[in-house]
Order: sequence, then C-alpha cells, then structure tokens
Amino acid sequence: MTNYTEFYRRSIEEPDAFWAEQASLIDWKEPFEKVLDYDSPPFARWFVGGVTNLCHNAIDRHIANRADQTALIWVSTETGQEETYSFSDLHAEVQTMAAIILSLGVKKGDRVLIYMPMIPQSVFAMLACSRIGAVHSVVFGGFASSSLASRIEDAKPKLIISADAGCRAGKVIPYKPLLDEALEHVSTRPAKVLIVDRGLAAPSMCEDRDESYTSLRREFLGATVPCEWLESSSPSYTLYTSGTTGTPKAVQRETGGYAVALAASMKHIFCGSPGETFFATSDIGWVVGHSYIVYGPLMAGMGTLLYEGLPTRPDPGIWWRLVEKYKVTAMFSSPTAIRVMKQHENESLFEADLSSLRSLYLAGEPLDAPTGKWIHDALRKPIIDNYWQTESGWPILAVANGVERMNSKFGSPGLPMYGFAVRLIDNETGEQITVPNRKGILIIDGPLPPGCIQTIADDDERFVRTYWSEIHGRYVYSTFDWGVRDEDGYYFILGRADDVINVAGHRLGTREIEESISGHPNVAEVAVVGVSDSLKGQVAVAFITAKDRSAVATGDGASAQKREILKLVERDLGGIARPARVLFVPALPKTRSGKLLRRTIQAICEGREPGNVATIEDPTVLEAIAEAVTAT
Ligand code: AMP
Repeated sequence: MTNYTEFYRRSIEEPDAFWAEQASLIDWKEPFEKVLDYDSPPFARWFVGGVTNLCHNAIDRHIANRADQTALIWVSTETGQEETYSFSDLHAEVQTMAAIILSLGVKKGDRVLIYMPMIPQSVFAMLACSRIGAVHSVVFGGFASSSLASRIEDAKPKLIISADAGCRAGKVIPYKPLLDEALEHVSTRPAKVLIVDRGLAAPSMCEDRDESYTSLRREFLGATVPCEWLESSSPSYTLYTSGTTGTPKAVQRETGGYAVALAASMKHIFCGSPGETFFATSDIGWVVGHSYIVYGPLMAGMGTLLYEGLPTRPDPGIWWRLVEKYKVTAMFSSPTAIRVMKQHENESLFEADLSSLRSLYLAGEPLDAPTGKWIHDALRKPIIDNYWQTESGWPILAVANGVERMNSKFGSPGLPMYGFAVRLIDNETGEQITVPNRKGILIIDGPLPPGCIQTIADDDERFVRTYWSEIHGRYVYSTFDWGVRDEDGYYFILGRADDVINVAGHRLGTREIEESISGHPNVAEVAVVGVSDSLKGQVAVAFITAKDRSAVATGDGASAQKREILKLVERDLGGIARPARVLFVPALPKTRSGKLLRRTIQAICEGREPGNVATIEDPTVLEAIAEAVTAT
C-alpha cells in the first residue's frame, strides 16, 4: 500500500503526473492534450482537449461486463415500493428518458431543471441529461415555490422535469401546484414541462406545455440514444447553493474533471468495488446525492440505493435492515440522521446483520464526538467523518483508507484530501497559521482539483468575487469555514464565518429566510440567525420588529402573527427553512453605520458573551433580545 503522505505530496507538487494517472480510471473517447490549464487563474481547466461523457462512464462502460448486475435499487417506505434495475435496465430507461427529452426540444448545452422526489425517474432524468450533453439543475424537492421560482428565473431552463408529488412521513406533498405557482412568478418560462405522475396527487396539466412521462415513455420505449461526446470542460450540471446574499448561486461543474474526481474518490476514499452496494441517504437535490447517490457509485460499477422516506419510519431500524438485505458495503449519511437514531436507542435498533458494511461515512455538518462514539460503538466499524461543500463536489478533508489505512479522530473530519492544498489563515491579516490549535479560516490554494466548482453559471465575476482573494500573488479559495489543525495535521471545523446556517446538514442562507419573512405586512425588520441545537446541529431563529407593535403586544396577537410568518416561510421556501422560533423584539442591534449584528444576536442565543458591544448604537437593545430569548 502507498503511503498517504507521499500520495498527497505528489498530488500537490506534481499535479500533472498525479492527475494523469487518476484520469485512467475513466473512459475517454479522445485523450486529453494537457492535464491542467491554469493560465487565467483562478479558472482551472482540467484534462484539456479530452473528450468523454458522464453517462457513458456511469452506465455504458459496464454493459460489456456487468449488464445483469444491480445498478439501482429504489426503496420507498412512503409508498411501500421497492424496485431493482440492472445496468442493462438502467441503460434502457435512461435512453428512453433521453429520447423523450430530445423530443421536447432540448439540445446539447441547454439547461433542464429537475424538481423531483426520490424516485428512479429522477436518476434517469439526470443521467439522460448527461447522456445528451444537456446541463441539469436539480432543485431540492423540499423547496417551495419562491425558492423554486428564483432558481428557474436564474437557470432559464429549456425544460422542467417534475412529478405529481413527493411523500414525507406518510403525507403526500403535491409538487405540481408549487411548480405552477413558481412558473407564474418568473419572467421566462420553459416551453415544456414533463410530469411523472406517480398516482399520488392527480396533477392538473397545462395544455401545450405539460407532457406526460407515462405516455411519452410508451412512445419511446426501446429508443437508442448515443452519448454526446463532450470536451472535458463542458459543463455537466449546475446546483444551487446558498450564500450570504438572498440570491442562490448556481455552482457549475465540468464533465471530465468531475468524472475523474469521482472515480478517484470511489477508489481512494470510499473503497468501492464493482458488484458491491453503496447507500447514500442524502437527496438528489443536494451535492452528496449528485456525487454519491448517482454518479460516483455507478461509475465504480456499484449498485446504488435510492431511498425515499424517513430514517425512523416504519421504525429506526429500517436503514440497517436495508444494509442487510442489499449487502451494503459503504453507507453515507449525516450526523443529524445518527442523532435522530440515538434518540430512539433500543436493543432492536441494530438487530440486522451488518457484516457486509465496511464503513459509515458522515458529512454535511460537524459530527460531534459523542454522536461519533455512539455510532462507532454500536456498529464497530470505521466512522469516517468527511468535510466538503457543494462547491468542492467531493471530500476536502477525510481519511483516504483506500490509499493507506489511517485512524480517524472523533470530532475531526481528518486530513486534506489529495489535490486540496488546504491551509488556515488569519481572518484579519491573511497570514498563514502555522502553529497547531490556533483558529483560522480554512482556505485552499488555487487551482482547485478536478471536480470542483468551475464557475458560477453565467457569472464569472461573481465566482471570483465570492470565493477568491489574492494573497501574496497567489489565488486562494475561501471555504468560509473556521477551523483548527492539531499537531498531527488533523483539522477540526468550527462553523461558518458567513451568514450561512446548517440545519440538519442542509445549507440555508439566512438572507433568503429574512426576505420571505419581510413579506409579512407587519414586519418592519428581521434578523435570522443560526443557533446551536442538540439534534439538528443548528436551527434558524427569527428576531422581528413589528410595524404595528400593538398587534403583537398580547400573547394571542403575537402567536397569531408568528403562525402567519411560519406559514409564509413554509409557502415560500419549504418546511426545511421554517425557523424554530420567531421572537418579536423592540429593536435589533446595529452598528453606528446601521449594519445588523447577527453574530451578536447569535451569541446571546447561545449564552455566549456578545463581544464588542462598544460598536453597537444602542447597547440596551441587547437586554431586550436576551429577555425575549429566555422568555418561553
Ligand atoms: P453544503 O454545500 O450544503 O454541502 O454545505 C457545506 C458546509 O457544510 C461546509 O462549508 C461546512 O460548514 C459544513 N460541513 C460539511 N461537512 C462537514 C463536516 N464533516 N464537518 C463540519 N462541517 C461540515
């Protein structure tokens, strides 16, 4: 086995040779001429001139050797359905979907927005887009009409693919009305909408615009659609993520570099082999879903398990029974899901035979040491905390057990992964922090390795402005996360340095929630902050000043308005953005220049010292905030 230190060193000091080797893990139609073009930093082009296709690497390349092996397993504990598709079945379904998409006028380079629940057709749709060179943009199905509308407005898709409904905790959530509402609020509408009718909530169809997947599937069954070969830098997809502003950013990824990065991570980090089963419990609407439900495992020739439902329904043992049934070898989940399980701890929780499982990977939010220890003791398998972002597409910090077996440390996502030149810098001076255990901002020296954000779609300038700064003549990428590194080189993540919050592993922009709340007629000003929570990591808490104070002066009046506000957020953004608490306060703390002090509010909520109150225009405001927080 190779030594990881040497493996990592080569990736940073000899990137051309290192990545050329990794590139042999995928199929290329035409070889690349140059490994890296970094002539106009911070823009990096990997595998220049190489020609490939993601769908080919995920499906077609396996047809010769494992056509009959399982590629996709779908389990819905919501509807009680369970389906299995071999590579050959998936090949056929994806070609049918590709033929449908082409018939609806989509061409190479066009964008297709996918607003879908966790059903096989969502995976077919993503792979079909990749197959024909269309750029998919999946919007998380839990988002409601405003979030959806802003993403449609930005993406300007040629086609939207959606479904009649999703299902959560036994409750049907109709998607089509949310989509129709969103479409009323956008300036450019797609010519076509493709609807997968699951038979859950009869969708009303708009003549000339809406098409039925069921009818078109009948028409195109058995279609042959060849892969569109793409130059390595051609965009494969965009995926929206939240930032400091209310406008979500469309993270755009390339094709060849992403394929190489995923294939390499499946080998070095996730240690997956053909014929095995991978189970990522995320959603296709998030980056983990893209990389490790859909593309990564399939590229590795593994079966991938797509799960619709809760971790606790019909009971908290469900995921472990699926591990047993489908002989899952690697599982990927979130700390919140494990904390939820921990709440339901009982003897029957881990009754299933887990002998197939080699490791459990957890990401998306900090894994607190007690939760890490609890699940480790329960499973007696390596628990691999890994840190990354929508922007990176694959882990920045982890342990690469496929390269060299290394110990994890509870509370730490581990070491920098190959290709990521990770450092900590002082937030004020930009100087590198070299001493162990001193807090700094986690940055990555450019170029980012293959598979990472290529740009923000249609907005190169925003990409550079948002993420990059030039320090001592070198472009550095900011993760916006605080971190520390210990004497062994292991990193610990201490939370975001911007206004992004992380609720149950879902990244949310506080500004988006504030904008929705501002839509209430009695809201004068609002500040939303993330407050630490023992189950979800963080929850959103909204502080509001009312225009008409008398309306919220009584308990009943305030409760009625809080309900209206929560409904508004749910309608606009979806249940995941719903604040855990809404508090009316007389005023919000601001600096003398009028800047809202969210961090001060957050400190009060978490019982910490609010810091430098001298900059605050009126320090007495803080007392009222503290009072509101402690009053129930
Ligand atoms: P997202 O883009 O939604 O994947 O969110 C990325 C953010 O989630 C990161 O910037 C971190 O703040 C947080 N995050 C992801 N993985 C971890 C982890 N293993 N430990 C701590 N924080 C994490």
